[in-house]
Amino acid sequence: MAGLRVCSALVTGANRGIGLGIVRQLLQMSNPPKWVYATCRNPKGERAQELQHLASKHPSLVIIPLEVTDSSSIQAAAARVGEHLKDSGLNLLLNNAGIAKLNSLDTETLEDMSQVYATNTIGPLLVSQAFLPLLKKAALGSPGSELSCSKAAIINISSYGGSIGSPSGWDLMQAVSYRCSKAALNMLTKCQSLGYREHSILCAALHPGWVQTDMGSSAGHTPPLTVDMSVQGMLNVLSTLSEKDTGTFLDWEGKVVLW
Ligand code: NDP
Repeated sequence: MAGLRVCSALVTGANRGIGLGIVRQLLQMSNPPKWVYATCRNPKGERAQELQHLASKHPSLVIIPLEVTDSSSIQAAAARVGEHLKDSGLNLLLNNAGIAKLNSLDTETLEDMSQVYATNTIGPLLVSQAFLPLLKKAALGSPGSELSCSKAAIINISSYGGSIGSPSGWDLMQAVSYRCSKAALNMLTKCQSLGYREHSILCAALHPGWVQTDMGSSAGHTPPLTVDMSVQGMLNVLSTLSEKDTGTFLDWEGKVVLW
């Protein structure tokens, strides 16, 4: 991971699963970020205990409340991170928080479709908007014009499930709202890459693999990847991203995924 040298990174949904794994491995890097902002919707809750324990051992880990479907929570989080960073910007924003509902075509509902879209698609849009000034600041403060995750980047954690060209796992789970929300997240990523290119912010969608988390195991099967394997792969991929990768959809091994 020699190529990934971020001063600051922020992860949404960082209290468990892949988000917690990303935070853990960022802190363990040989050249760790100066600040890792781990956001979650209930920092004092039962499900944030591991994260709290990690923060007690790592002064560079800052836990910030952030509910990605709540604009005021997003604004408050961005303000807190901005105050904490003082004159520096934010290098790496990882939109990881997500939910899945195991509905089929027959059982999908207005409520579930809306909730999943609000979390998986609108959440990353609003979070990116709120943190844009800090990402721009990081890009301006970083030498050179080449795009990279070390300079300024938005990484949206997407899924194979949202691939229209290669929709995997249909027989295992239809999860219609989830697939649609991730397909839309992919388009959002493309839009961000086009819109934020002029600010030197790299934007990419990343599929973490099928991973042993609450979500990954929710259909009753054991996924092949541990959180550590997936996160190690993804951080390696992040360390290699450059100009040519902005606006792409890659997996945890760096392979291109069909949109
Ligand atoms: P988990 O269900 O294990 O964790 C989801 C995380 O998202 C939790 O921290 C949860 O917080 C948080 N979250 C959910 N809703 C919100 C919200 N409204 N605001 C803030 N945080 C929220 O999932 P994974 O770790 O497996 O998934 C992480 C990402 O990876 C997701 O985007 C998922 O779609 C994607 N992914 C996962 C795959 C897998 O096999 N696991 C495969 C492909 C993609 P809380 O504890 O408060 O609920």
